[in-house]
Amino acid sequence: MTQYLMAIDQGTTSSRAIIFNQKGQIQVQAQQEFSQIFPFDGWVEHDPEEIYQSVLKVCQEALKKANLCADDITSIGITNQRETTVVWDKDTGKAIYNAIVWQDRRTSDYCSELKAKDLEPKISDKTGLLLDPYFSATKLKWILDNVEGARDQAENGQLLFGTIDSFLLWRLTGEHKTDVTNASRTLLCNIHSLQWDEELLELFNVPSSMLPSIHSNTHEFGHTYDALFGSPIMIGGMAGDQQAALIGQACFSEGMAKSTYGTGCFMMLNTGDKPSKSQHKLLTTVAYQVGDTTHYALEGSIFMAGATIQWIRDGLKLIQNASESVQMAEAVGSDNAVYLVPAFTGLGAPYWDPNARGAIMGLTRDTGIAEIVTAGLQSVCYQSRDLLEAMAKDEVVPSCLRVDGGMVVNDWLVQFLSDILDLPIQRPAITETTALGAAYLAGITGGVFSGLQEVSQLWQQEQAFSQNMKESQRETLYAGWLDSVQRVRTCD
Ligand code: ADP
Repeated sequence: MTQYLMAIDQGTTSSRAIIFNQKGQIQVQAQQEFSQIFPFDGWVEHDPEEIYQSVLKVCQEALKKANLCADDITSIGITNQRETTVVWDKDTGKAIYNAIVWQDRRTSDYCSELKAKDLEPKISDKTGLLLDPYFSATKLKWILDNVEGARDQAENGQLLFGTIDSFLLWRLTGEHKTDVTNASRTLLCNIHSLQWDEELLELFNVPSSMLPSIHSNTHEFGHTYDALFGSPIMIGGMAGDQQAALIGQACFSEGMAKSTYGTGCFMMLNTGDKPSKSQHKLLTTVAYQVGDTTHYALEGSIFMAGATIQWIRDGLKLIQNASESVQMAEAVGSDNAVYLVPAFTGLGAPYWDPNARGAIMGLTRDTGIAEIVTAGLQSVCYQSRDLLEAMAKDEVVPSCLRVDGGMVVNDWLVQFLSDILDLPIQRPAITETTALGAAYLAGITGGVFSGLQEVSQLWQQEQAFSQNMKESQRETLYAGWLDSVQRVRTCD
């Protein structure tokens, strides 16, 4: 009997279910968007109930589309928007407050207070992260401090905490568990011991009874309730979205890297079995734990990648479709002397400058729409080079970069990326790498794949791009970028 794997990809704007066959090929997919809630400036919330219902619906829809029943699915893998924080009642399963989303900045003053007490180095040593509202711990503390009665209830063992993986698992199976990659984004997990850290729990005032148990990415997390899909299905894999993409890209050796170009961009470098602490403001995080193998990664994120092209389209109205940018860039060429620094919400890694704002530089009388659009595409590549430079100083230059995400359909962009990074780039046949990674994990637990080795042989390249730019040209272009960034920075 043919068996299938189902990936639940619970993202920031939509939930998706994708069914894969045993070779990792996509059979069907279903997707549903859900509401974004912005109660105040800088606050971003989701309704956990709506998220759960959307997940249930897409799973049921995918099964129906594929004409399959629960017994045809060997195992489910969950991958999710990371850091987003949910607190729920263990008897009713209802969240006591909306999910506070990773983008939410409401705890920035509290983070500044902790920084002023010089706590960042110690927290960073333990967690590999920086003191930033991005991560879960301060969001969890906010809920306990601001929802009436929450702290007492938490101390009495009535409330549970989880990131989205954990909340979904609870609702689908009744188990309270998470995996190492999601745990490593909370600011509560010690990435050396891979356990919750007593000292951090005390610092953020979080009762340990609220926390899920931490497991490897390939674990029998639980079985779905009978009523949901007709008969129980094992949940055999869980991982945060960027780690799942690293797995879907089969970056299993030290020195292999992937970069995902969607709204933002996330670059991750596999650094092997020891955490490598960044001296250049990159994050150290758990890449995956499968069987006896635990690998770590260095991670850098860019806030504005595809979002820059969206702004050029919707804000400036210079183009009608993102795809028009290719022709324009081909006409302008790589030697464009216009620079667009998309620091609309500050600069991410390696600058971490929240107060910087965007700029367009190098304008002349013959600058037109095409030059600005091209500069938008180039900005994504220059920012990637910034991340790669930081990785190179901390660890190694990867031998090759595997790319995915909605932007990489743009051949001009990927070629310029290869040129400016001076690296060969591989684009995979299956660009749904996040869901694929979750399916691989589910498949390993379900016995479909023997392990990472077998999975790595399934990875297929769609196209390779090689660097084809003179060093002098590359370095002149990049120097122009660094000069432009320098002009918008507000701190070192
Ligand atoms: P997310 O998962 O973050 O929602 P996607 O991976 O779906 O994002 O990628 C969508 C982004 O890719 C959009 O921001 C869009 O502007 C950008 N994009 C799509 N097609 C192109 C293209 N041909 N050239 C450049 N950017 C593109």
